[in-house]
Amino acid sequence: MIYPNDYFEKIDKITIEYLKKNDIKALILDMDNTLINQNSEMPENVLKWAKEIRGQGVKLIIASNSNRKNKLDKISNLLGIEYILFAKKPLKSGLMKAVKLLGENVNNIAVVGDQIFTDIIGGNRCKMYTILVDAIEEKDFWYTAWKRPIENKIKEKIEKHKNEK
Ligand SMILES: [Mg+2]
Repeated sequence: MIYPNDYFEKIDKITIEYLKKNDIKALILDMDNTLINQNSEMPENVLKWAKEIRGQGVKLIIASNSNRKNKLDKISNLLGIEYILFAKKPLKSGLMKAVKLLGENVNNIAVVGDQIFTDIIGGNRCKMYTILVDAIEEKDFWYTAWKRPIENKIKEKIEKHKNEK
């Protein structure tokens, strides 16, 4: 339940070929530390990646646990996509709202995020494909820092498994 299906260091390493191979037609994206850093800035490569992926017909939506509507408005406008505010991940309700808006089957949707305990567990509970990515900035808020060692262990394990293949 806490394992993602895959892990990428950077979100822009998720290619259209990879998504097609795994039958993924839509992505539910986390916002904080996945699309933007702690200063609410979106790196150029993330914006470029999102535009390219969308251009290839992959549907995108943001599901954030944040309740900062201004910030979500800004980021979703930048990408031209919808969002779910206060998604309450790892609970299923917010993610399933996103599924409904995407209009795709859960088998064809991947959840992408930097946190095991919200994004990955939430996605797994909804039977979606889950992709863990590194937080855009290493420096973490004090209230999430305690969870990082577990995430690092899991990333190490996945990397090791990949290398053994
Ligand atoms: Mg996050």
